Amino acid sequence: MPKKIFIFFGPPGSGKGTQTDMLADKFKLPVISPGELLRFEEDRKTKLGEKVAGIMDNGKLVSDSIIEKMIDKRLAKKDARKGFILDGFPRDEDQLHFLIRKLEKITSPQDQVFTFLIHLNEAEVKKRLGGRRVCDCGAAYHLKYNPPKKRGICDVCGKRIYIRHDDKPEIMAKRLKLYHKQTQILTKKFGSIGLIHKIDGRKKIKEIHRDIMKIIKS
Ligand code: AMP
Repeated sequence: MPKKIFIFFGPPGSGKGTQTDMLADKFKLPVISPGELLRFEEDRKTKLGEKVAGIMDNGKLVSDSIIEKMIDKRLAKKDARKGFILDGFPRDEDQLHFLIRKLEKITSPQDQVFTFLIHLNEAEVKKRLGGRRVCDCGAAYHLKYNPPKKRGICDVCGKRIYIRHDDKPEIMAKRLKLYHKQTQILTKKFGSIGLIHKIDGRKKIKEIHRDIMKIIKS
């Protein structure tokens, strides 16, 4: 079976997480998100979690060596053999080169690699992030666009949902600035190496999913 690899770019709040979860369900592939992996470490108060907590809470990027090691370890797991979905990686040039080297090693010509950029302008991002709520189990909601069935409670596990610390306005502004500085240079580079599919992030969740599926099937 050929592998399917999906790489997602997009500003915080663009709906990447929602779309990657939908694809994961459809293709039975794992979503690999360094942000999620790091939050898991933070919650369990591991050494790594304690080391990165301050960096993440400030909206800064964790060092490439930590992230690349984590990605390497995660890609080596059995469930990633038939493919995977990347959300939040690569985030700078060093990580991009790491990924290209990795893909050269683990893919063969019949495998499929798709790169998507979910585009959303800054005003829209700010509006979206204001309503984002998350759960410890990894589920994400939006008070207006994707609310849980019961107010304040996660549909998946029944725990209370909350605002991510780094979604607070002053940290969000930093994360957006960083996104524009680093990720946009990256998507340009990626665009010149492979094909990057630009997706209109203003549409409804289901419509965006349909747009992505159309590209995958074509
Ligand atoms: P995210 O959940 O993707 O918004 O990531 C949350 C935070 O985790 C970021 O603000 C960074 O501090 C850290 N992080 C996630 N992915 C990366 C990455 N590829 N490189 C460096 N830091 C990352």
